[in-house]
Amino acid sequence: MKGRTLLMIPGPIEFEPDVLQAMGQATISHVAADFCEVFGRALERMREVFLCPGGQPFVVAGSGTLAMDMAVANLVEPGDRALVVNTGYFSDRFAAILERYGAQVSHVRAPVGGAPGADEVEAALQQGDYALVTVTHVDTSTGVLADVQGIAALARRYGALCVADGVCATAGEECRQQEWGVDVYLTASQKAIGVPPGLALLVAGPLAIDAWRARQSPVANYYADFANWLPIMEAYEARRASYFATPAVNLVSALDVSLGHILAEGLEARFRRHRRIGDACKAGIAALGLGQVAAPAVAAHTMTAPYYPEGVGPELLKAVLGAGAILAGGLQPEIKTRYFRIGHMGAVSAGDLLATLGAIEQGLAAVGYRFEPGAGVAAAQRELLKP
Ligand code: PMP
Repeated sequence: MKGRTLLMIPGPIEFEPDVLQAMGQATISHVAADFCEVFGRALERMREVFLCPGGQPFVVAGSGTLAMDMAVANLVEPGDRALVVNTGYFSDRFAAILERYGAQVSHVRAPVGGAPGADEVEAALQQGDYALVTVTHVDTSTGVLADVQGIAALARRYGALCVADGVCATAGEECRQQEWGVDVYLTASQKAIGVPPGLALLVAGPLAIDAWRARQSPVANYYADFANWLPIMEAYEARRASYFATPAVNLVSALDVSLGHILAEGLEARFRRHRRIGDACKAGIAALGLGQVAAPAVAAHTMTAPYYPEGVGPELLKAVLGAGAILAGGLQPEIKTRYFRIGHMGAVSAGDLLATLGAIEQGLAAVGYRFEPGAGVAAAQRELLKP
């Protein structure tokens, strides 16, 4: 399409045409039988996509931050100790939310671009009686992928609940919520789940629901209280209408369509596709001689965070935009002006990635960076063509 630009930021992303069509349909009543069917099916599909057959899904109008707020508001009581496995900006946000609800927060940190090791997380858990551990599956500020499986296992061993922020990961990076013992896995609609911004999504496992039921103090957030939403989710799943606050009808319809696509592709195939495209992007960026924020051993597959070349800054992104791809600037405060971010998740194809790397090459040439033309595209293509 002439004049079309590819939206390759780490969310929102490019959406499937029929997902967008669902957004554009005439809005139906939130208590209509056909909406009960759509919402009920979307909730069932959430369990499948999160690989958590025994979990309770919540779909609420809001953004990813609301999903984080909802997890913390319902699970934390004033004075509880919480451990934040910190891999960047969004891990800090978890700490801010935890503190707002009266938790005593400790962090295990790593240098920017790294992730704390399991031994460090365990050492921290040994030192305190933690009620909750938070982990950011992919921290969108750094492109660091955390070992959610290992951290969830440690949290379980030390009697703490594990809440994982999958906003830049869910339905892209491998997560087996039930098998791994992740008590709450949460995300937002606009990332790998593939729906325009506006839905906070989370699945709570049985231990999380038990902990919420056993609270001594009331949930200090009216809108986010599970008590308000649980009966609504149960009703819609039973194909009955029920009202607490008006659901985002068109977004829920779009969610149902997108979850259908995800399940039709199959989660294993989807995890593989994200790995392949992520590896190809990293190979392409490396072949252009650019460094990357995340260390290779902990690099995400849903996004890539390259450093600008020496002497180049955000003007590169303008030049890349001129060549047809929208990329994002830096976010992690210590290095904010020194790097940029590429999202490659959801409906992204190999062709989208090659076009993006082509646009990056055009942008690099426009800002006077010297490199072998085609080197990034070729390296990515080699990776994509691997059997
Ligand atoms: N966590 C992560 C990892 C994110 O990437 C984001 C958004 N970029 C959020 C939380 C917050 O989500 P939202 O902007 O939808 O509130």
